[in-house]
Amino acid sequence: MAPWFKKKQQRRFGSGDAGYSRLVDNSAVDLSHGVILYLEDITVSFDGFKALDRLTLSIDDGELRCIIGPNGAGKTTMMDCITGKTRPDSGSAYFGQAMDLTRMTEPEIAAMGIGRKFQKPTVFERHSVFENLELALKRDKRVRYSLVAQVDDEVRDRVSDTLRRIRLEGEAERIAGLLSHGQKQWLEIGMLLMQEPRLLLLDEPVAGMTDDETERTAELFQSLAGQHSLVVVEHDMAFVASIASTVTVLHEGRVLAEGTLDKVQNDPQVIEVYLGR
Ligand code: ADP
Ligand code: MG
Repeated sequence: MAPWFKKKQQRRFGSGDAGYSRLVDNSAVDLSHGVILYLEDITVSFDGFKALDRLTLSIDDGELRCIIGPNGAGKTTMMDCITGKTRPDSGSAYFGQAMDLTRMTEPEIAAMGIGRKFQKPTVFERHSVFENLELALKRDKRVRYSLVAQVDDEVRDRVSDTLRRIRLEGEAERIAGLLSHGQKQWLEIGMLLMQEPRLLLLDEPVAGMTDDETERTAELFQSLAGQHSLVVVEHDMAFVASIASTVTVLHEGRVLAEGTLDKVQNDPQVIEVYLGR
């Protein structure tokens, strides 16, 4: 375990601090330069094939970034490197100024405030929406339940707050298995939010959603930006256009173009390898 991680935990749990929200502490991230994530020269090879090829990419704190690119461009591999699922052959991945994610384990990275949403929703189908959010917190190893009574009230407040943010206030008692596909996706995002991530990685979040759900998801992401940083991999160009952020185009494991959607869509190289197909 990295020394800074140990120190942080000891300080946190040893303080006798009853404030639950303060137990979920990812304040160790140094954001003094306004950058939440900096990937530098990341290379990942599978049997000699470079899925990522000296990928360099920077995400500002509070930013909502879209990543697009043809199949096989390395988008999922990039997320795997950020979350510690895959170790790059070379290169570094900084979370804030000082933390090199390539030296941390998956649980350590999650505990420092990086949440990942896979494409398929994985909610507890037989539990209510409320219980799902509650469980997301209990699953969080950073939360100590020694102060149960106090924690319960705070948990209820947090769940209510999250329900509002993901627009499921009216569905708290509903069994999650009965939600629409889009609502399940929001619930899963809510489960991530319960753990107060600083950085959210979302892989094709609007795939399979109705137009109305897609629009609401765009609103949700815009409301989360600022307070959180979001990296969204998405093929739905109407959705990307509607969240109007900086777009990074990946191709063959590296950045091909970056800028507004308009700018990258008019880039001749992008047209050639991706949009023109
Ligand atoms: P994207 O998400 O942009 O579609 P991926 O990151 O999934 O792309 O894959 C990038 C490339 O790496 C692809 O050519 C894919 O076949 C290859 N790849 C990904 N994971 C593995 C793996 N575990 N073993 C071998 N090849 C892989
Ligand atoms: Mg992928």
